[in-house]
Amino acid sequence: MRHASADACLPGIRAPQNHNAALYGPRKNDWRQQIMQLEGKSVFGGIAIGKLSVYNKKDNQVKRRKVEDVAAEETRFSEAREAAKEQLKGLYEKALKEVGEVNAAIFEVHQMMLDDLDYVESIINMIRTQEVNAEFAVAVTGDNFSKMFAAMDDDYMRERAADVKDISNRVIAVLQGTGQGQITGEEPVILLADDLAPSETVQLDKSLVLSFVTRHGSTNSHTAILARTMNIPALIGVDYPETFQTAAQEEKSLDGAFGIVDGYQGILYVDPDEETIAKYRKIKDEDEDKKRLLQELKGKENVTLDGKKINLYANIGGVADVANVLANDAGGIGLFRSEFLYLESEDYPGEETQFAAYKTVAENMAGKKVIIRTLDIGADKQVDYFQMEKEENPAMGYRAIRICLDRREIFKTQLRAIYRASHFGTISIMFPMIISLQEVKEIKEIVAQVKAELENEGIPYKDCELGIMIETPAAVMISDVLAKEVDFFSIGTNDLTQYTLAIDRQNPKLDNIYDSHHEAVLRMLQMVVDNGHAGGCWVGICGELGADTTLTETFLRMGFDELSVSPSMVLKVRDKIRNADLSKN
Ligand code: PEP
Ligand code: MG
Repeated sequence: MRHASADACLPGIRAPQNHNAALYGPRKNDWRQQIMQLEGKSVFGGIAIGKLSVYNKKDNQVKRRKVEDVAAEETRFSEAREAAKEQLKGLYEKALKEVGEVNAAIFEVHQMMLDDLDYVESIINMIRTQEVNAEFAVAVTGDNFSKMFAAMDDDYMRERAADVKDISNRVIAVLQGTGQGQITGEEPVILLADDLAPSETVQLDKSLVLSFVTRHGSTNSHTAILARTMNIPALIGVDYPETFQTAAQEEKSLDGAFGIVDGYQGILYVDPDEETIAKYRKIKDEDEDKKRLLQELKGKENVTLDGKKINLYANIGGVADVANVLANDAGGIGLFRSEFLYLESEDYPGEETQFAAYKTVAENMAGKKVIIRTLDIGADKQVDYFQMEKEENPAMGYRAIRICLDRREIFKTQLRAIYRASHFGTISIMFPMIISLQEVKEIKEIVAQVKAELENEGIPYKDCELGIMIETPAAVMISDVLAKEVDFFSIGTNDLTQYTLAIDRQNPKLDNIYDSHHEAVLRMLQMVVDNGHAGGCWVGICGELGADTTLTETFLRMGFDELSVSPSMVLKVRDKIRNADLSKN
């Protein structure tokens, strides 16, 4: 399993900001030297104001004990392991309901880790040879495995270090008859933690958490993904101290102090003064007002003052995001980044797993359009089990449709799952990173084979609209030819900008010149609309630019038929559309 990259963060999620490593202490230019401002990386925007609560993991103190009855100790361990697995099953079910299948998968991984032979044998061996208590054997083995993972030259394996610790603590807690950490008190708090394991995050009472702030963790960790799914401001990489100096120069514990999380700027304020509190209350109120006002746009059409209509859809990364799509009243799903299913899996997700996900999304959307983009891995989205060779220039390398046309069994499995799910709703399929007519022809042949297979097997499916993503200059330039082959175009402006401007979208040094408003990009958009329409295709945008409200009117004038944006942007874009008047210059 490998996590999605920052760039591929779940749609609807504010992209992490490029803050420097956490610094703590007052900012140099802070006019009020007493207010402690701690910087970190934002994983989700918004403002939280409230009491800070330092999350103390239940410290399962483990002492070494000599045991007489080694066999009984082994049994104690086996029973505790089974009980821990049962707990994880329960957590999986809970997470499934709250945050969806893809995010819940970590608890299945933890169950599997508890069955890992090396791990189990190491513990049993220690109990037998050293005649020690099970708690001690689990703690030492957990520590050893965790250190081993942490030293590995692979991001994914390094992140597993925390998981081994987590499962070991769970078994120890069962052996000792203690629970794991939790929030005490009734008042919602800003939770500060060293790091939060996914199992801890999902077990927290959500109504008591205003925000998460952690010292460690990556923007792509499951915990960050869960925090985003909960829609609350969250910061990582905040190196907070245990105590701070109050304005009166008293040393006070952070736990219980008052704080503010600015999820837009990536800042935690400790013990802010009245002025800062007032400033943030105002921003928070304005946020709430804006949200309330936008709610009134639910159920309204996406139509300009002079009567031009456009489809407004939402981008998703998995089943869990559908609730957000519906809550924001999107007319459909314009981009289902199916690679998240692969990124969150230990191994190739099989036809049944994929079918279940696509079917659930199609059913929940109740007949509204769901555009599934076929696997788009490679470049920044790496999956270990694909065993891809290291490339000099992966953004221009073996990726997306290139892999699917090369490793057809993977492609066919996905297409079978999509076509089977098509029976349960309105599904369209689109293909990423297209550069040639030849690719489109090959895709259509494979699609025909898949449909013929399903027909032979008597499996029902519907005919799906087929579209391509326009995200390479090559596709733009031959869009007149491609339009004759497909039903729709959806422009991936994120990649189209990088390939047009020759700027790596991952390179923070070039952020200031990565400009999707570049005249070259805008001219390409117009060209694609014109060629698409001439060839009988509808044309949309599913890249981030689609949600740029400074361009909404421009897109309407260009003649776009659809915009697909993150769920949280739907009502904002609807507002912009409804206030546009194309009859005026
Ligand atoms: C794009 O490139 O604009 C796009 C929507 O795809 P992704 O961001 O997933 O590459
Ligand atoms: Mg792309």
